[in-house]
Amino acid sequence: MNAMVLKSCAPIETAPLERREVPDPVAGPGEIRVRVHTCGTCRTDLHVIEGELPPLDRPIIPGHQIVGTVDQPGPGTSRFRVGDRVGIAWLHHACGQCSFCRSDRENLCESSVFTGYHAPGGYAELVVVPEDFAYPIPSVFSDLEAAPLLCAGIIGYRSLRRSECRPGQTLALYGFGSSAHIVIQIALHWGCTVYVCTRNAGHRELALRLGAAWAGSRAEQMPTPADSAILFAPAGDLVPPALKQLKKGGTLALAGIYMTDVPSLGYEEHLFYEKNLRSVTANTRQDGLDLLEVAARIPIRPRTEVFPLAKANEALLRLKQDRLRGSGVLTILPEARQNR
Ligand SMILES: [Zn+2]
Ligand SMILES: [Zn+2]
Repeated sequence: MNAMVLKSCAPIETAPLERREVPDPVAGPGEIRVRVHTCGTCRTDLHVIEGELPPLDRPIIPGHQIVGTVDQPGPGTSRFRVGDRVGIAWLHHACGQCSFCRSDRENLCESSVFTGYHAPGGYAELVVVPEDFAYPIPSVFSDLEAAPLLCAGIIGYRSLRRSECRPGQTLALYGFGSSAHIVIQIALHWGCTVYVCTRNAGHRELALRLGAAWAGSRAEQMPTPADSAILFAPAGDLVPPALKQLKKGGTLALAGIYMTDVPSLGYEEHLFYEKNLRSVTANTRQDGLDLLEVAARIPIRPRTEVFPLAKANEALLRLKQDRLRGSGVLTILPEARQNR
């Protein structure tokens, strides 16, 4: 099969993903093989490629927002049939045995395996996943729309939950990339007032078009303090201003898998009055099922910019340079469902 392969970590400007012919994977016991239609690009792919996540000592096929159809059910599988449309997300496998897995926190599993990092991902024509870690894709979404839901959507939804945001409250979003543009659609559906803080003028424009009550580049200029906030930008220096702009008892969730260091905080200014600061780590399968259900009900309409698989380097460079509006999606199967 055709795949975009990372041999060793390097800046995306050097186009480190190489198009290569690699052997077709085979579905083992409990696994399904999926013919990939589309795969979303994610900032985590950049962190893997550029070595901000611990580099692995072997070639990697990135990509963890995969939409495709089952083409080979492995021995002992029963959940899906050939031709069923499924999604594959970042959590590829969790042990089911450790204290976290046994307490509904498989996102913190001691021996988790992640798609497009430890296990080969979706920048390829075929991919294999344990059937228990695949998601049925609701029919209201095209292949293009469904891809960004599988990480940007799921992690955004977990971040929204971790921010304790309740219907009707005020929510501040810092950074307005793929995940935030999905979260805003859920928050608005809940009747929330949403403020968006980003340096990127194009992102501010999209935020206002999607229904943000305010979009600006400086947290201090927000019309009011927020009940909840989510920091999507991987910039630790945004943590103090974001905490400062919270109401008493408010919660700031940090959505990124990687972030630059957080500068020192003032107790009175940033944390006292029971302000909460929380990180977000991966997701559980339940988060994924819940997000897909909510997304289909609204329904969420991700804005996508589409690239062929061979242009993966270019798609990721544009993501790094904040030149995408909405979500970048690679098409692997040329006849991927553009329409719902
Ligand atoms: Zn575990
Ligand atoms: Zn991701």
